[in-house]
Amino acid sequence: MMRRFTGDRLLVATHNAGKLEEMAALLAPFGIACVGAAEMRLPEPAETETTFIGNARIKAHAAAKATGLPALADDSGIEVEALGGAPGVYTADWAETPQGRDFVMAMTRTWAELEAINAPLPRRARFRSTLVLAWPDGHDEVFEGKVEGQVIWPMRGAQGHGYDPMFQPEGFDITFAQMEPAQKNVISHRADAFRKLMACFGG
Ligand code: IMP
Repeated sequence: MMRRFTGDRLLVATHNAGKLEEMAALLAPFGIACVGAAEMRLPEPAETETTFIGNARIKAHAAAKATGLPALADDSGIEVEALGGAPGVYTADWAETPQGRDFVMAMTRTWAELEAINAPLPRRARFRSTLVLAWPDGHDEVFEGKVEGQVIWPMRGAQGHGYDPMFQPEGFDITFAQMEPAQKNVISHRADAFRKLMACFGG
């Protein structure tokens, strides 16, 4: 049986400000306030697993153990079909530089790899989000979401975060970065996973 979350304040185990903002907006209708990992001064654990579930578990359990509070973590990424699912779990790694994350560099690499193999259009891709809600006693619940679409070039739009400027969801002619955040929050991979998580809140 699924364990219910009954509190009104949830620790969100992310240091990513864009993700925290999206997750706070998705939780607000349930009267649940969010506190982020950075605000709680939690260290960022190494994501050493090779699956979204594995890495989401690492983040959620580390935060729950460190604080004694239930913690929600998201591990997500973009899978490009013609690249065999890359960057996948390494989506954030492709943006890593000694000075911090550079998503223009990561998107440029993604497109360059598609050009190098002359991949046919449309260049199909999907975002995946895996949510893990973990309790301090070691129990967890897992929820998975996705959104299908294609990667496009040149990048378009200034909203959102990460790879949003190059991702055009199916049925739209604008990218996630050209969408109002409220619209992205209805169709995104994270919204899909959140709809499943709602069962934990009694929804
Ligand atoms: P994580 O923090 O290890 O889960 O890294 C996921 C990475 O995937 C992020 O750093 C973003 O680059 C990318 N990503 C996940 N969700 C989104 C999204 O909604 N829009 C754009 N990029 C995303």
